[in-house]
Amino acid sequence: MSRIALVTRLSPEAEAHWAGHLARALPGERIDGFRELSPAERAEVDIAIVANPDPADLAELPNLVWIHSLWAGVERLVAELGHLARPIVRLVDPELARTMAEAALAWTYYLFRDMPAYAAQQRARVWKGLPYKRPERTTVGVLGLGELGAAAALRLRDAGFDVHGWSRSPKEIAGVTCHAGEETLERMLGQVEILVCLLPLTGETRGLLDARRLACLPEGAQIVNFARGPILDSAALIEALDSGRIGHAVLDVFEVEPLPEASPFWGHPKVTVLPHISAATDPETASAIVGAHVADYRATGRIPPSVDLTRGY
Ligand code: NDP
Repeated sequence: MSRIALVTRLSPEAEAHWAGHLARALPGERIDGFRELSPAERAEVDIAIVANPDPADLAELPNLVWIHSLWAGVERLVAELGHLARPIVRLVDPELARTMAEAALAWTYYLFRDMPAYAAQQRARVWKGLPYKRPERTTVGVLGLGELGAAAALRLRDAGFDVHGWSRSPKEIAGVTCHAGEETLERMLGQVEILVCLLPLTGETRGLLDARRLACLPEGAQIVNFARGPILDSAALIEALDSGRIGHAVLDVFEVEPLPEASPFWGHPKVTVLPHISAATDPETASAIVGAHVADYRATGRIPPSVDLTRGY
C-alpha cells in the first residue's frame, strides 16, 4: 500500500491550487491533504509532499519513507523535521533558477543604473545626471554558487559585469572569478560593488554578513539579499547605511515576514523593500519535478538526492 499526503499550512485555496497541479503531475497516485486522511489511511502514506508543514502532522505518518518539499529553502524543515530522520528532498527547479537569475539581473541593474537615486531626485524635482560606469568595470559578487547562485552569476556575466562568486567548495564557472571557503570571503568583499546574497540559511551563514564583513565592502557598495533575512545583520546594515558606507540595500527577505509595520526598513531612504518575491515557486513546473521524482521512486525504489541534515542545506 502506498499513498501520498500533502502536508501544508497554506491557506485552503493555496493548498487546493497545489493539489490540482500535483494530481495532474502524479496520475495514478493517491494524493490527499493530510487532514482528509483517516488514521488507517495515514498509516499507508509513504511520501509526504510538504509546504511549511506542522511537524506534529508528519509525526502522525508512521510509515513515512521520505519527504518532498515544494520550496527550495529548507532551513525550517531541517530544524523542525530533522529528528524524524527521514530524507528531505528539496525543490530544484530550472524555472526557479531562471526566475532568480532574472531577479538578480533586474535588481543589479536597478542599483547599477542608479534608479534609487533618480527616484529620490524626482521627488526633490532635481534634474541631474549621475556618472555612468560600464558593466565590465563594475564588480558584482554572488554569495552562494548553488542552483540559484550559479544561474545568477551566469546571467550577470552574460550582461557584461565583472562577476565574482563565493561558495564552500571550489567551483569553476567560465567567466566568473570563483572563491571558496570562509578565509577568502573578506578579500572578495573588498572588491565587490554590488553584493547579491544567495546562500542558504544554516548555522554557518546565520549572521555571516555582520558589521565586520560589511565594513570590508568598498565605500558606497550596494547589497541585494534574496536569500534569508538572518544571514544579514539588520542592525549592522542600518548603521552602515546611515553612515554612508553602504549605498543602498534591496531586501526581499527578513528576520520576520511579513515585515512588521514598525520595521525601520520600511521608511529607510536607502532601502528597497520587496515582499519575498524574487523567485516564486511555479506550481506547474514544481509539480512536474515532484511527479518525476515520485515516478522514479516507484519504478526503482531510489529516493532522490536529499538535503544533508548535518550541513543544513
Ligand atoms: P543550493 O544548496 O543549491 O546552493 C547553496 C550555495 O551556497 C552552494 O554554492 C554552497 O556551497 C553555498 N554555501 C552554503 N553554505 C556556505 C558557507 N558556509 N560558506 C560558503 N558557501 C556556502 O541552494 P539554492 O541555490 O537552491 O538556494 C539558495 C537559497 O536561496 C535557498 O536556501 C533559499 O533560502 C533562497 N531562496 C530564496 C527565494 C526567494 O524568493 N527569495 C526563492 C528560493 C530560494 P557549495 O556549492 O560548496 O555547497
